[in-house]
Amino acid sequence: MAELDGKNYDYVIVGGGVAAAAAVGGIRELDETGSILVLGAEPDGPVYRPDLSKKLWLDKDASLDKAWLLDGQQVDLETSTPATAIDPDAHTVQVEGGATVSYGKLLLATGSSPRRLDLPDSDRIVYYRTAEDYRRLRELTGEDTPVTTIGGGYIGAEVTSVLTQNGVKVTMIFDETLVQQRLFPTSIAELITKDFTDRGVRLLTDETVSGGELADDRVGIRVGDGSLIEAGAVVVGVGVAPNVGLAEAVGITTDNGIVVDDRLLTSAPDVYAAGDVARYDDALLGRRRVEHVDNAEAMGKKAGRNMAGADEAYDYTPIVWSDLFDNGYEAVGDLDARLDTVEAWNDDHTAAVVYYLDGDTVRGVLLWNTWDSTGKARDVIAQSRDGKIGRDQLVGTIPPG
Ligand code: NAP
Repeated sequence: MAELDGKNYDYVIVGGGVAAAAAVGGIRELDETGSILVLGAEPDGPVYRPDLSKKLWLDKDASLDKAWLLDGQQVDLETSTPATAIDPDAHTVQVEGGATVSYGKLLLATGSSPRRLDLPDSDRIVYYRTAEDYRRLRELTGEDTPVTTIGGGYIGAEVTSVLTQNGVKVTMIFDETLVQQRLFPTSIAELITKDFTDRGVRLLTDETVSGGELADDRVGIRVGDGSLIEAGAVVVGVGVAPNVGLAEAVGITTDNGIVVDDRLLTSAPDVYAAGDVARYDDALLGRRRVEHVDNAEAMGKKAGRNMAGADEAYDYTPIVWSDLFDNGYEAVGDLDARLDTVEAWNDDHTAAVVYYLDGDTVRGVLLWNTWDSTGKARDVIAQSRDGKIGRDQLVGTIPPG
C-alpha cells in the first residue's frame, strides 16, 4: 500500500458500495477533473447489489460483468483496502497497512455489516451481501445442493425465491408465523406464504436457531426442538448494523447511524456521509436511516454533488422494491405491520395498495403488484401529514394494479 502513502486527493470516499459509486457520479457532474480515491473493504469494486439476490439468478443474459458500477469512471479504486482511521482536523485517512492519504472532502459511505449468528465458521455458511458471496453461493449450489436460508427479511425471502426458481431445494427458517409478516398485513403475508409453499419451499416458521454443526460437505442448523436441519449451504440474512466505527472514534455525532444535515454533512467539517450508514431528516418522514438501494443511489449522488460545491438539500424520499416469485412491489415510507393498515385490492385480488397509518397519519404506502405509483404514494403521505386527506378517503386514491 506504499504507493498510496502521502498522496493527496480532492475527494476520498470510504466505502465501496452503491452510495460510493453514486457519489463518484455526483462529483463528476460538477467536477470533471478533481482527483477521487475510493477505498473499498470488499475484494470487488462497487456492484449493483440488488442484482445479487434477483437478476443474476433469473435473467440468463445477466452477469456480474454488467453489474459493476464504476466501470469507465476516472477514479482511483482500491479494493480490499479498508480505512482504519480518519482525522478530520488533519484531513487525512489511514488505511489498513498504514498508508495515510489526505483529502479535501471526505465521504463516509461505509454501509453496514451483516449481523452474525452463533454458528461455526464455514465457507458453506454465507452472510449474504457481496459479489464474493454471490460467487460462493453459485459454486455451492452448482450440484443439486439443498440450501437452508435463515431470516425472514429481504435476504431470506429474496434468496429463497431465486434459488427455488433455479431448482434448488430450500428450507427457510425464520422466527415468524408467515413469510414477511413483520412487513405486510396478514392478507399479503398469507398470500406470500402460500406461494412459497406451493413452489416447494419448506418453511420452518416460528423457529429460532440455536447453533450449527459441520460435517464434510454439510452444515446442520440446530432449531428450537433440538433437531438438526441439514443442507449443503446456509444463507444467513438476519439484518445488518451500520458501520459507524470510524466516525465514532473521532467524536462525529452518531445515533444508530452517522447523523447528517440536509447537505449530508456530518458534525465534522468537510466530512459527509451517505447510504445505509447515514441518519438523515427525510423531508416527508423525519429522522431515519434507510437500508435500500434507491436511497444509496440518490443520497450518494447528492453527497457527491455537495462535496463538489452544489450546496443542495437532500429532499428525496426513497422507495423500496422487491420481487418474490411472480409477485413484486414498490413502497414508500414505513412498512411495519405493527402499524394500522388500510387495504385497497383490485377486483381479481392480484394487486393491492396498502396504507400504513400511525394514528390518522399515513407513514407508508405499499404498492403490491402496482406500478408507476411511487410519486402518488409520496403525495398521499404528504397530504396526510398536512391534514389534507383523511383515513376514509384513502381507498381509491391510488388504483391498485
Ligand atoms: P432485514 O431485511 O433487516 O431482515 C432481517 C430479518 O432477520 C428480520 O426479520 C429480523 O427480525 C430477523 N432476525 C434478526 N435477528 C435474528 C436472529 N438472531 N435469528 C433469526 N432472525 C433474526 O435484513 P436482511 O434480510 O439480512 O438484509 C440485509 C440488508 O440488505 C438489509 O439492510 C436489507 O434492507 C437489505 N436488502 C434490501 C433488499 C431490498 O430492498 N429489496 C433486498 C436484499 C437486501 P426482527 O425484525 O425481529 O429483528
